[in-house]
Amino acid sequence: MSHGIHHVTAIAGPAARNVRFHTDTLGLRLVKRTVNFDDPGTWHLYYGDETGTPGTILTFFPWEHAAPGRLGVGETQETVFRVPEGSIGFWTHRFIERGVSFDPPVKRFGETALAFRDPDGMNLALVAVPGAEGEPGWTGGGVMPEHAIRGFHSVSLLVEDKAPTGAVLTDVLGFGELGADGSTTRFQVPGAGIGGIIDIRAVGGFLKPRPGAGSVHHVAFRAADDARQAAMVRRLAENHRVAVTEQRDRNYFRSVYFREPGHVLFEIATDAPGFLADEPTATLGSALKLPAGLEAHRARIEGALPPLSEG
Ligand code: ZN
Repeated sequence: MSHGIHHVTAIAGPAARNVRFHTDTLGLRLVKRTVNFDDPGTWHLYYGDETGTPGTILTFFPWEHAAPGRLGVGETQETVFRVPEGSIGFWTHRFIERGVSFDPPVKRFGETALAFRDPDGMNLALVAVPGAEGEPGWTGGGVMPEHAIRGFHSVSLLVEDKAPTGAVLTDVLGFGELGADGSTTRFQVPGAGIGGIIDIRAVGGFLKPRPGAGSVHHVAFRAADDARQAAMVRRLAENHRVAVTEQRDRNYFRSVYFREPGHVLFEIATDAPGFLADEPTATLGSALKLPAGLEAHRARIEGALPPLSEG
């Protein structure tokens, strides 16, 4: 059964800068260029591995003049990618060469983590994972295959109280509680793998967030299909008194949304149909894709969207 993170969606500043950093510096693939279905004058950019496998997908809503966000309780603190063991030195050098803001590597739960920020101040990190070098990785931006990012390692959530959020992770979303390192409690799906970890940092009395550029908007979790998503929704209602939105068709997955008890916005997204639904692997992410309802407005939408390349 497939569990774990499906995608992470964040708010960004200028779109072209966002594309350059995530494809060129990090070497991710732009797997879909579409618009925010709820605000079609805004890009919705999806980055991932070659085909946008669930657990590799980082997405952004870029606004050219977005004010910076301020991290707070009830929000995702950090979004963490997996890299092969032995790649931390490569990435440290790359960040120095390119002027990326980063912290010295530290050990977390026995793994080496390199925390860094994207140009909007989004908190990101790389964690070295044994065996990741044997998995496929997209090698954009001149990143060699032995160092390429292999999807998500984890996200960390800042909440007042660990227990109610942890109960949703374990009872509904397929995670088990693994243990603690300092004030961080780790939850993991069986076998972990890509997107298989959530860390909860309980921080009573912390400031509330001010969402803006660099803030994570929501974290989406995987459901194999509609039936399993519906079963998760029932458990949320019956065991946690949490109500979800109606299912929304996002073209590449079908989603419901809810505030988990710690106030972080969660989504449950189906694995199907995926990013190959409207373009083939070879040209994935190369053209603006619109849902059927917006096709009639394509010319006006294209005219309003900011450029994706810096000129
Ligand atoms: Zn989403």
